[in-house]
Amino acid sequence: MIKGSFPIEDFRGLQTPFYAYDKELLQKTLDVINAESNKYGYHVHYAVKANANPIILQTICASNLGADCVSGGEVKAAIEAGFSPDKIVFAGVGKADWEIDYALDNDIFCFNVESEPELENINVLAAQKNKIARIALRINPNVDAHTHSYITTGLNENKFGFSIESLPQVVVLLKKFSNVKLVGLHFHIGSQITDMSAFQDLCIKINELQEFLREKDICCQHINVGGGLGINYQHPNHVPIADFESYFKVFHDYLKVEKNQIVHFELGRSVVAPCGSLITKVLYVKKGTSKQFAIVDAGMTDLIRPALYQAYHHIENITSNANEEKYDIVGPICESSDTFAKDYTINAVKRGDLLAMRSAGAYGEIMASRYNLRELPKSYFF
Ligand SMILES: *Cc1c(COP(=O)(O)O)cnc(C)c1O
Repeated sequence: MIKGSFPIEDFRGLQTPFYAYDKELLQKTLDVINAESNKYGYHVHYAVKANANPIILQTICASNLGADCVSGGEVKAAIEAGFSPDKIVFAGVGKADWEIDYALDNDIFCFNVESEPELENINVLAAQKNKIARIALRINPNVDAHTHSYITTGLNENKFGFSIESLPQVVVLLKKFSNVKLVGLHFHIGSQITDMSAFQDLCIKINELQEFLREKDICCQHINVGGGLGINYQHPNHVPIADFESYFKVFHDYLKVEKNQIVHFELGRSVVAPCGSLITKVLYVKKGTSKQFAIVDAGMTDLIRPALYQAYHHIENITSNANEEKYDIVGPICESSDTFAKDYTINAVKRGDLLAMRSAGAYGEIMASRYNLRELPKSYFF
């Protein structure tokens, strides 16, 4: 929904704040993902943690993507939305026994395993059920994603995955476990990555690693390169769909795969971020001594990214074309970090105006909380 195309009349009767999702943009995005990934026979899984709204999950499932989950609750939500268990992968450093049991009972495609004790535990739980769990080793490739430190996951200092150095002993360990079967290698270096050279670096690391494993006679059928493709938060109207063409092409150009190997992706943000906007109403305009505040009825409880990661969301006054003025746009929560933007230029606001916080379809609604005993935001599709 570009500015001017928001269905303002439909918004009038709805209680703010709420998430407005653009169904058409989501579908267009999925069509581009399918067209670009099919060029190379790639398998794309949607990272459920970005947004688990049932309608979004069903739409993505209907476009034939698989699901990438990081908790038992997500595995359950994916199955309930219609994803076939043989297209579900399950990652996470702290999988609890009930989550592993649930995934085993449903015969998911693959566990992305992050440590030796986890591997041992999956072997024990699978043995109790007389099953053989398919696993991929999540490997920390020590690649710098050049993104915000809170969303960098592929450096040795991060908590995720096995280090490359530990692999020889993991390979020995695997031979002892008869209820797990190594089928893949898994990587995920971070999020909101817009510099394609980070993915190029990842490919080169994977090539080296595959070379090393081949010397040990290990070849995994599945190479899962994770997600992390970034979107353009600055210009949601001009660039509403991420650059999937360049993204998949980097892997095609740089990743060396055997004929029988299948490459998997786990995309979250780039699939759903652009299609969602948080719609909020201006409650008060408060004149400070040196600045003015637009106090809105959405808070960090509805959209925590600015408070948590200093993230930028493009904000528009969708009910006024008045001359532009500068505001700090803040929420009602009793925390100073409950600020969406500082010194932000926007069409002058008055009480009752509606603002749209754009590109909020990923890590928005799903991260909402009831802090201050606020209601969770509702969502609507247009
Ligand atoms: C979060 C996550 C993803 C998705 O990341 P995006 O940046 O949203 O694409 C993929 N894989 C794993 C293991 C994750 O934790």
